[in-house]
Amino acid sequence: PIHLSTFFDSVLETMSKVAEKKKISLSAEVPEELFIEGDEDKLRQIFMNLLSNAINYTHDGGNVRVIAVNKQKEDGSESVVFTVRDTGMGIPRKDLPRIFERFYRVDKARSRSSGGTGLGLSIVKHLVELHRGVISVESNLGIGTSFLLELPLLQEDEEY
Ligand code: ATP
Ligand code: MG
Repeated sequence: PIHLSTFFDSVLETMSKVAEKKKISLSAEVPEELFIEGDEDKLRQIFMNLLSNAINYTHDGGNVRVIAVNKQKEDGSESVVFTVRDTGMGIPRKDLPRIFERFYRVDKARSRSSGGTGLGLSIVKHLVELHRGVISVESNLGIGTSFLLELPLLQEDEEY
């Protein structure tokens, strides 16, 4: 099992240099006693992608925050709901349904200034589904974006 609080300390430390360069405050709020079952490298890839997007598409001086909450489901199983929230440029409503597609990027001006490939979120979605999770996005143009992930807490005999 992965200790989420320790995991996010390390993920945030990796991202802190690029956040500092943009004077973006980067923080995580994770319950101290929370553990999750999964492939640590893949979970790291998920959050590094979401956080690098959040930092990339947020202007200098903004905020990026990860929140993790333990959720008890009606059937007795448990999951963790993660929110990766930024105060960035946001995503136009018309683009939201397509951002998890391979190579999809919101506009050419953004693409030129940030130079990615448009693969990040398609990989994130794939890795979330390997963990039997779901991911969704909410965004307000000019205000910010939140990615919501729900991952089951425990899984037996799973290969990720
Ligand atoms: P890379 O392959 O390097 O990740 P990318 O960042 O362009 O390239 P994705 O991570 O798949 O590709 O994101 C797709 C598009 O969605 C981005 O080009 C960007 O326009 C938009 N996007 C993703 N995350 C955010 C965010 N947090 N705020 C605003 N726009 C975002
Ligand atoms: Mg990206």
